Amino acid sequence: MCRICTEPVESLIGLTKLNCSQCPDVTAIPAQLVNLEVLMCRGCPRLVLIPDTLVRLTELDCSECPNLKVIPPELVNLRELDCWNCPNLATIPASLVKLNSLNCMECPRLAFIPSTLRQLILLFCDDCPLLTSIPDTPSIPCCDGCPWLSENAHSYPNHIPSLLRIQRWFRHGRKQVFKRVLRTRAFNEFVFHPDRIGGKAVKRQLEAELGQMRPAKQQRVG
Ligand SMILES: [Zn+2]
Repeated sequence: MCRICTEPVESLIGLTKLNCSQCPDVTAIPAQLVNLEVLMCRGCPRLVLIPDTLVRLTELDCSECPNLKVIPPELVNLRELDCWNCPNLATIPASLVKLNSLNCMECPRLAFIPSTLRQLILLFCDDCPLLTSIPDTPSIPCCDGCPWLSENAHSYPNHIPSLLRIQRWFRHGRKQVFKRVLRTRAFNEFVFHPDRIGGKAVKRQLEAELGQMRPAKQQRVG
């Protein structure tokens, strides 16, 4: 049970943050909560509706909501969207042009990520079997002037797989601990520059992984 289930809507209208994660009962976020800027509704098995009136939202975590089908395109101020493991979510709205961070892993119905999301710095989209289109590298600002790209250019014609590999390393590494800090672009550019400590560690990891997959890659190319 969460505040939506236990308190009258009138007493919640002024809230700018609301966490109703893991509530087994909530089916809809009330449309009257127009002041919300941060909404956490992760792991709500009966949640079917996030209303299109929550236009002030900048952070939304609606991961692990099996009955959620739509992220409303009206939520144009969203900067962070976590919607991983939403088996019925089929689209990320192209109108979310302010998104910095998108985690849509394990969304089996998701077929593409709109090319309009030009502010994306972090993108986690592994384990989406239908996903065929990720914004081209020029669309993801983190690739602009990225010191990694020239390093990979000769050995890896397509940069996206190597970026996804780096992201995987983040996830299994210390990302969870320093989640907030790691989301800032400045921090990432400093620590994960190829000549600094994080960059060197990633480089070793990449070399190990590339070494392991080299035979498969040669088969594909040849
Ligand atoms: Zn509840």
